[in-house]
Amino acid sequence: MSSACAISTTRPGSIPWRGGEHVLNGRHAYSYVNSLCSAMMAYLAAGSEKHLRAARNAFAMLQAQSYATGGWGPDEMLRGPGSDALHDSLTNTHHHFETPCGSYAHFKLTRYLLRATGDSRFGDSMERVMYNTVLGALPLQADGRNFYYSDYNFDARRVYKEARWACCSGTLPQIAADYRVNLYLRGPRAVYVNLYVPSTLQWEDDGARLLLTQVGDYPFEGKVSFSLEVSRPISMTLNFRIPAWARGARIRVNGEIQPAPVPGQFAAVRRVWRSGDQVELLLPLRSRLEPIDQRHPDIVALVRGPMVLMPVKPGLDTSIPTLTRAALLNAERAGTREWRAEGVTLAPFTELGDRPYTAYVKLA
Ligand SMILES: [Zn+2]
Repeated sequence: MSSACAISTTRPGSIPWRGGEHVLNGRHAYSYVNSLCSAMMAYLAAGSEKHLRAARNAFAMLQAQSYATGGWGPDEMLRGPGSDALHDSLTNTHHHFETPCGSYAHFKLTRYLLRATGDSRFGDSMERVMYNTVLGALPLQADGRNFYYSDYNFDARRVYKEARWACCSGTLPQIAADYRVNLYLRGPRAVYVNLYVPSTLQWEDDGARLLLTQVGDYPFEGKVSFSLEVSRPISMTLNFRIPAWARGARIRVNGEIQPAPVPGQFAAVRRVWRSGDQVELLLPLRSRLEPIDQRHPDIVALVRGPMVLMPVKPGLDTSIPTLTRAALLNAERAGTREWRAEGVTLAPFTELGDRPYTAYVKLA
């Protein structure tokens, strides 16, 4: 907590330094992100504004040193600004993100920040970590074999940790039990839909019983459909998270187009809801390239919607594919969960199986 308190004395958005050293530099990643969850509890339980500022500032620093997957902390360490650590880690380690523990801390922190601020971009960050890291963790085995690190090396594969029953064998079941509380949040006469996961939400408001059902194949497809059952007509607001990348998003209610939603915000639909009402959300899943850092703009990850598409390699030691910007951006669908660019197969982390891969490519 001492480090988080040091951060709290700075102005929002400023970068704290102590003796010329970034306060998070060299700190153990999972432990310090967990300490930010404690800072948020100090705000949520005791109203301490300085702890909210500390958590927001530190979260901005964390995002500035995150991989395209949303993962952070190569070799379990946080780094100072302007560091080459992320770039260098693509060749000098296979320990890029302590996945179950790191995801568990990340989900708690972003959920608390979302609750405190209503800023949908914390939900964007949560969903990026969910789809690109922990959902691709290998399943926990009865003999204690557990998935620990996500590997973003140019010669990467998904493997179990050698040690049995490591910390991550405990946090993986915690995530499985906990992730559903990330899907929906409540406000006065309002529900906020944070994650687009097939599910049914039941709740009561002003004496009415409500049932909201969500279906779709997001994030492989951009369409998400909702239907509502209510015990009596009720005036309330449904808010839908529009990810910051979702330019051109659309919402229809009972077939009627709604005012254009703003990416990076919740879109509010306020009306008297009746049984059988239908909402259709369309999030355009455009592809984009995200460089590893500003000094290496030619080393990029291909991101489609919230999901990183990783080139599959024919063998662990074969060289990484070189592809042009256009070839990556125009990768074509080669099945429901795979893409292809100039003969190179690309797949999200969840669909890699035991195939070697690389998270980043060098642009030709
Ligand atoms: Zn762990």
